[in-house]
Amino acid sequence: MRILQNYVGGKWTDSTSGRRRQSFNPARRDEMICEAQDSTSADAETALHSAHEAFPAWSRTPMPKRAALLQEFLRNLGAREDEFARAITRENGKTLRESRTEFVAALKEAEFQVGQGRRSAGAIRPSEMPGVTCHLRREPLGVVTLITPWNFPLNVACRKLIPAVIAGNTCVLKPSDLTPMTAALLFESLDAGRLPAGVANLVFGRGSVIGDTIVTHPVVKALSFTGSTEVGLGIAGKLAGRDTKIQLELGGKNPLVVLADADLDKAVTAAIIGGFSCSGQWCTSTSRVIVEAGIYDAFLTRLTAETKAIAVGDGSDEATQMGPVCGRQQYETILKFIDVGKREGARLVIGGSPLTEGAHAHGWFIAPTIFADVSPEMVIAREEIFGPVLVMLKARDFDEAVRLANDTVYGLASSIYTRDLAKAQRFIAETDVGLCHVNMPTAYKEPQLEFGGVKESGRGSPEAGESGIEFFTRHKAVYLKEQA
Ligand code: NAD
Repeated sequence: MRILQNYVGGKWTDSTSGRRRQSFNPARRDEMICEAQDSTSADAETALHSAHEAFPAWSRTPMPKRAALLQEFLRNLGAREDEFARAITRENGKTLRESRTEFVAALKEAEFQVGQGRRSAGAIRPSEMPGVTCHLRREPLGVVTLITPWNFPLNVACRKLIPAVIAGNTCVLKPSDLTPMTAALLFESLDAGRLPAGVANLVFGRGSVIGDTIVTHPVVKALSFTGSTEVGLGIAGKLAGRDTKIQLELGGKNPLVVLADADLDKAVTAAIIGGFSCSGQWCTSTSRVIVEAGIYDAFLTRLTAETKAIAVGDGSDEATQMGPVCGRQQYETILKFIDVGKREGARLVIGGSPLTEGAHAHGWFIAPTIFADVSPEMVIAREEIFGPVLVMLKARDFDEAVRLANDTVYGLASSIYTRDLAKAQRFIAETDVGLCHVNMPTAYKEPQLEFGGVKESGRGSPEAGESGIEFFTRHKAVYLKEQA
């Protein structure tokens, strides 16, 4: 059992509270994994101070040099796939295959953002005046706070931290208290890469205890948050009227639309991948499946058969296809939504209960669940469940399918399965989301493309792609005329 320390000013340190919080394996809830510091506001202030001190030198370090330093980190990270995958599975519950996929995705994102360090850090524009050079500089902001969730503990941290520091900022990262081990391993890799002290700091702790300090402290110039809409918008409210840049990546209720002309097998596979990978705990998970009336029954029959075959178990067993959900709170919330679905009259087709027998007795396991004949006003069609629950809606035709897909406060990801290119193009134009897929699962992403939601799924500019660095910079328009 490991004891995890904060990483502040280039040193591993204990919290001044003298307290630690224990973490457990969601597949075997009596197995303690580690204890992480239960930090105080004073610890958070120390970390912010350390980042503030490191900023002048780091921001003056040429960008390609910053990128070169991070190459060392990448080399260290790249050699530790198995260690990271096992840690993610142990503390999050997802299968080893899913953890490896997360590791590879995080590495690709980090590599892309490190590569950005050798691209232009601004733009040259023509001037109307002879002898005048106009250019746009991108400058770092200062100290930035990064707050991450438990569902992609490595990928989301890399997606924020690497562009933040490549752009010349210094940062404090607060990971979810459910997944501290992955964050500690990430900072071991940064430490091995010899990033200058204070550039990246790690503080474990509860949002309710250190949240206000890391968000509202005057040295903080930007906040990049990924988590629930409720917490994210609450934090944003605290920053109203302040000069703090905000980037929020929030919840979703992502629709998969299946038209009558679709390749049914491929669409069923997309629903299974989108609905049940990581036990439905991706922000881009498929949550609502909207199927054209003519194929609704056939689709449901095939989807149910595939769902029945999913092997649920401990993610560290290579044969497992779906792991537990990540902890007691998740478990209770998901079961509550399942209960609501039953009470509001949706047709439970499969699942709908916890798995508590045999090998499932010691973990937070829930059977993959499908509700059919759901109507759009039901709670289970409107709220983010964030668990292995698919909600099926029937659409008369394409127009109604698009209307249903957009009938949500969220706007993260969507997908359509069809062979009709004209309908696919209309869907691309009319779907109200930040990520749109055609004949691909809702959760698919690549690092060179922006990632972020609209409506209640996000605020501020998206992450990843070229926006990755852009969010962490401010623009300065320069007019330069040489004196004769
Ligand atoms: P959460 O909102 O409960 O917590 C997210 C982070 O915020 C954690 O580190 C938590 O400790 C911290 N936090 C909580 N209260 C805080 C406060 N008052 N001040 C500062 N920090 C505070 O979310 P979660 O349960 O960890 O993650 C699941 C949610 O994240 C889902 O809604 C999911 O859709 C969303 N998510 C979104 C994306 C995206 O890119 N859009 C990606 C992954 C997850």
